[in-house]
Amino acid sequence: MKRGTANGVHGLRMLEGFEAMKMEPELQCVKALLSPASGIVDSHSLMLSLVGEAENHGTTFSNNTSVIGGHLEGNCMNVYISESKNLRNWDGVSPLQPELTLIPKLVVNSAGLSAPALAKRFIGLDNVFIPPAYYARGCYFSLANTKVAPFKHLIYPIPEDGGLGVHVTLDLDGQIKFGPDVEWIDGIDDTLSFLNRFDYSVNANRAERFYPEIRKYYPDLRDGSLQPSYAGIRPKLSGPRQSPIDFVIQGDDTHGVPGLVNLFGIESPGLTSSMAIAEYVAAKFLR
Ligand SMILES: Cc1cc2nc3c(=O)[nH]c(=O)nc-3n(C[C@H](O)[C@H](O)[C@H](O)COP(=O)(O)OP(=O)(O)OC[C@H]3O[C@@H](n4cnc5c(N)ncnc54)[C@H](O)[C@@H]3O)c2cc1C
Repeated sequence: MKRGTANGVHGLRMLEGFEAMKMEPELQCVKALLSPASGIVDSHSLMLSLVGEAENHGTTFSNNTSVIGGHLEGNCMNVYISESKNLRNWDGVSPLQPELTLIPKLVVNSAGLSAPALAKRFIGLDNVFIPPAYYARGCYFSLANTKVAPFKHLIYPIPEDGGLGVHVTLDLDGQIKFGPDVEWIDGIDDTLSFLNRFDYSVNANRAERFYPEIRKYYPDLRDGSLQPSYAGIRPKLSGPRQSPIDFVIQGDDTHGVPGLVNLFGIESPGLTSSMAIAEYVAAKFLR
């Protein structure tokens, strides 16, 4: 509550368990923190709307195109560009040939899961500034054969190591999902990360871990009611049992390379924070 208030969240209120359970009859809790100002968005519609606005302001998007590396020349980062399909059969060893070199005023490396691996492909950037990367898959399960959703609010339990805890997510149609859990992924080297070769499948067996977690606050969850939905992967800067690390927004004031900003560890709530991050980067580094 202190942290939220300090961050400018209005209207946060501690509730006794009985007050919260009156609002959400399926919920079981001893206390709750109510955030009446919290909202949800349809992320796909938001993206489409941002793309539309950006294009109206003269932005060109180049889909199916990959940045494969770069080098510093003078005060600018020269970035090497290739069609993404050229990476599909790449052996990970032979040098990649750029089809185009761009020399922008500012390069923002916002490659998400691939950002640290891509940064290592920028000649002139000292590797000491690139943090180690950790990856944590988060799976969601939805409710099968349920016509009326059991909750009207997003419900968050106490956070767990590496994540927010298996919580209740609602979409704009009122459909409910539970998740994401935290599954640390090993064996991802820079090449796999650069090529985004991650496994996004949801193992149905993980439901067994979801039932007890969800029943801590939703005791009436029926056996057999969870079905696999989808998975996402968090680009983490700290590993299991390490303290969480905040977003890293790194410009020439840190790494000394003019015209390059690296965004590392932009995990949740990176979407919520995206406008603030963009404003910060533009104000600080776009000269
Ligand atoms: C399970 C899960 C749940 C989440 N829930 C929430 C939530 O409720 N609220 C919230 O605010 N955030 C949430 N997030 C976090 C949010 O999704 C991320 O913070 C956000 O997507 C980060 O945006 P980004 O642009 O930095 O990276 P990404 O969204 O990962 O985008 C990176 C883009 O760069 C592209 N790319 C990668 N390498 C290259 C290259 N070499 N050349 C060209 N393009 C490249 C990729 O294809 C991709 O399109 C969640 C994340 C996960 C995994």
